[in-house]
Formats: sequence, structure tokens, C-alpha cells
Amino acid sequence: MRSSCVAHLPQTSVVDRSEILRELGLLPIWRLRAPAPASPSEDSTPSTVAPAARPTQELPASASDRLRRIATLEWRDFARDVDACTACGLCRTRNKSVPGVGDAQAQWLFVGEAPGAEEDAKGEPFVGQAGRLLDNMLAALGMKRGTNVYIANVLKCRPPGNRTPEPSEAESCRPYLDRQIELIKPSLIVALGKSAATTLLNVEATIASLRGRVHRYRGVPLLVTYHPAYLLRNLPDKAKAWEDLCLARATMQRMHADANQPLPLQTEMPDPN
Ligand code: URA
Repeated sequence: MRSSCVAHLPQTSVVDRSEILRELGLLPIWRLRAPAPASPSEDSTPSTVAPAARPTQELPASASDRLRRIATLEWRDFARDVDACTACGLCRTRNKSVPGVGDAQAQWLFVGEAPGAEEDAKGEPFVGQAGRLLDNMLAALGMKRGTNVYIANVLKCRPPGNRTPEPSEAESCRPYLDRQIELIKPSLIVALGKSAATTLLNVEATIASLRGRVHRYRGVPLLVTYHPAYLLRNLPDKAKAWEDLCLARATMQRMHADANQPLPLQTEMPDPN
């Protein structure tokens, strides 16, 4: 088993790679102190299973109509529907709605918290300073936004002054995220920060307690890591985020390996009981 995720960086030039690692605060090269688990599947016991969508009983007809409409949205109508949404007050203060960006059939889905000022101006998630760090994190994994990667947020509209989303806002916006995930059918979800992790997993917990394990969102493996904006303020935790991304990549590789595994030969008739 290899002991360093760094060893698997894409074969770009050495200069590119060291620039990316420097941006991630990972130079000199960081190595795992303990050997990585023999197989990500050992660590993949679902520890948190997101429940199915909450029951809609006692919702007024207009609210349940809204949920039904969002639950059957197709991509062609998705952004327009988000843009027309008035379910919470954020539509009154935002400039542009920020539905999400990327490959509609991506295997990788990254979910952040909510648009900030630059995202609000552009209508695209993670285009500010935190977004540049996210792009560098993707590059360190040999990926880039738009190619097998989709990026979304819990909230599609910017909270004034970048305040933390209110639970009621996350609740109102959640059906859009659920529908996006249904349409994308990602192989793996990376929750960036507490809002994304606790919303998707429907638990109240800290990032520290959620990271390092494979969770499930409706059966899809979900990894939790720090939000890039947090990492910009807490540089030493970049190494932990890198560890999380290595676990995410190992989990994806394991899924690919399992999918390519030939079915075991059956030598006996199965016992019908
Ligand atoms: N932070 C987020 O969570 N999302 C963005 O799109 C930008 C910053």
C-alpha cells in the first residue's frame, strides 16, 4: 500500500505540481505518518446515513406543489426555476442566483455552503479566493472543474454579508440540491465544510467528528472535509484536507476496481433457503 497520496499526483510537470502543493501549503512534501488503511472499503462502513426526504405532511398545497415540481425538474428548467424561487428572503438581497456549475454527469460532486460576493456577481459557485483554492485542490487530484466534476452549494442565493445560512434557508433550498444530486448521479460527494456536511447527512456534528470516514447520502459515498474559506484562515489544516481528498480518491478508485471485478464463478447451485 502506498503511504502518500502525493505520490499519485497527475504526471504534470514537476513545476506545476510543486506550485499546486505550495498553494495547498503542503511543501515540503507531506506524508502520512501512519500507513494508510489497507483498503478504503475497510473504512467505508456507512457511519451516517442520510434519511430519505422528509415527509411533506401538513404542508400547504402550494408548498407541496413546489416540492413536487422541484423533484421532477429537468436540467433544461433547473437554473430558471432556481432563479425564480422566492421561498426564502434571500432572493430579495442577492444579485444572481448560483445554481451550480460543471459536468451534468460528473462522478465527483463538491458541495459548498453558499455563494459569496464574487459568486453572487457572476452566478457561478467558487469563483473567489476560496474557489481558487478549490481549483488548486482539484488540480492536485488531477481534476478540474467542469470535467467529471460538478460544484454546487447548499444555498443557491448569497446570504447578506456572507453570514451562515439560517436553518430555514437551508431547508427551503435543499430540494434543489437533492434534485441536482438525483440528476447528476455522482459516484462520490465531497461536502466542503459544516453546512454542506450537516445538511446532506442530516446530523448536527462538527467537521472534526465527521471527517476521515465514508458516510452515505442516499447510498452515495460522501466524504467530509474543511471548507476552502476556512482553510485560507487556518493554513495548518490544509494537510488534513489533503488527507481527506486522498481518502476520497482512494474511495473512488476502490469503487472503480470493484466495478471491474469479474463476478466470482459459481460452482454450486445456490441454496434457495
Ligand atoms: N463559499 C461557498 O461555500 N460557496 C461558494 O460558491 C463560494 C464560497
